Amino acid sequence: MADGAGSNWAGNIVFSAGRVHRPATREELRALVAGSSRVRALGSGHSFNRIADTDGALVSLAGLPGTVDVDSAAATVRVAGGVRYAELARRVDAHGLALHTMASLPHISVAGSVATGTHGSGDTSGSLATAVRAVELITADGDSLTLDRERDGERFAGSVVALGALGVVTSLTLDLVPAFDVRQFVRTGLSLDVLAEHFDAITSAAYSVSLFTDWSAPRFGQVWLKCLDDSGPDSAGPDFPWAGPADGPMHPVPGMSAVHCTEQGGVPGPWHARLPHFRAEFTPSNGEELQSEYLLPRRHAVAALRAVAALGPVLAPVLQVCEVRTVAADDLWLSPAEGRDTVALHFTWVKDTASVVPVIARLEAALDGLDARPHWGKVFTTEPAELRGRYPRMADFLKLRDSLDPAGKFTNNFLRRLLYEG
Ligand SMILES: Cc1cc2nc3c(=O)[nH]c(=O)nc-3n(C[C@H](O)[C@H](O)[C@H](O)COP(=O)(O)OP(=O)(O)OC[C@H]3O[C@@H](n4cnc5c(N)ncnc54)[C@H](O)[C@@H]3O)c2cc1C
Repeated sequence: MADGAGSNWAGNIVFSAGRVHRPATREELRALVAGSSRVRALGSGHSFNRIADTDGALVSLAGLPGTVDVDSAAATVRVAGGVRYAELARRVDAHGLALHTMASLPHISVAGSVATGTHGSGDTSGSLATAVRAVELITADGDSLTLDRERDGERFAGSVVALGALGVVTSLTLDLVPAFDVRQFVRTGLSLDVLAEHFDAITSAAYSVSLFTDWSAPRFGQVWLKCLDDSGPDSAGPDFPWAGPADGPMHPVPGMSAVHCTEQGGVPGPWHARLPHFRAEFTPSNGEELQSEYLLPRRHAVAALRAVAALGPVLAPVLQVCEVRTVAADDLWLSPAEGRDTVALHFTWVKDTASVVPVIARLEAALDGLDARPHWGKVFTTEPAELRGRYPRMADFLKLRDSLDPAGKFTNNFLRRLLYEG
């Protein structure tokens, strides 16, 4: 994220606010929220659309203490709103504990990722937000509110993936699991026909499975298998008869150097150095890409992949890489995985909005009827009314928002259009 007035990480969005406020204390933050007619929290700026934007006060929590309080006995961590996953992972691992999943990049902020339903991959792994057990917010009048999974049931379920619309999240309490080691293996050359025939066996062949293709043909150039290291020191890797082993480290985008990718070749390593695709010690300051992603009911996976494959010639000129992942169902109202085991079709595009948007519209048309929910933080053109219809708890969320922020202080133009218009 750029300082000053600023743009997002990808540089495709210039924020409307003249500057980014960086309060150094909680009291400053509360006063800023209470005294502003419109305010939005900015995380690490890794979203690709105007979700974080505001023409009021844009506020970063990066200047507040980066508290990470691990409770080893309870296996939980309370983490401040401005902290990023790389730092959180380092601190949690030092206590012999782990997060159950990670996104592809560890540099994204925890609060921003949770707010948009960011996820990794794994048939049994819910999104990052599913680890949340309590949310602490500064609400519209500057007061603090804590919503707790055990105590606040329904309201809690609406307040985790909340798009920044309920207030500024000052901390999150997350569930942890015992630290674990992972071996990452890459297989090459999986045809779509084979995937279609063995979809369940392939996505469950490891703790986390990602399939990569550029759709130049109906096949996946790479399959990344992140296996729990419980199979002994001489393990040759998972039983995966559908594609052969890579002959060296690979980057998901064909032709790019794998130097910044997490270690492959089955070398055991800690969860935080294998679950993300990219190394924490490599910090990209900006990105030459745009991203879109659609999360569909898992039962539609094969139909969706065939529809996308048929668009191959349309996609290929603007596509860097497509990644297919799976996500376990959850009950968080605005989570794209709410209520259904999910397959996620991710697209990394070239950074050329004018060329990419018409292709996105074609892609969305191809996925029509398959109940695709776009990733909240990425580029999409789904009509607001249709999008709302894909979230059974949307009306409940709007009621919750109205009760906590009746004046719409935290609602920007992006959300106003998606949540209320059309
Ligand atoms: C290189 C790259 C890799 C990615 N990989 C993945 C991936 O593997 N899986 C995936 O699902 N997504 C992925 N994403 C998307 C990314 O995780 C989301 O866009 C996420 O929202 C980014 O978090 P952020 O902190 O940068 O949020 P921002 O873009 O800064 O903000 C996103 C939203 O969160 C809100 N927000 C941020 N902080 C707070 C707070 N403290 N309180 C209240 N609201 C807040 C903002 O208001 C805004 O609505 C990737 C993005 C990039 C650039």
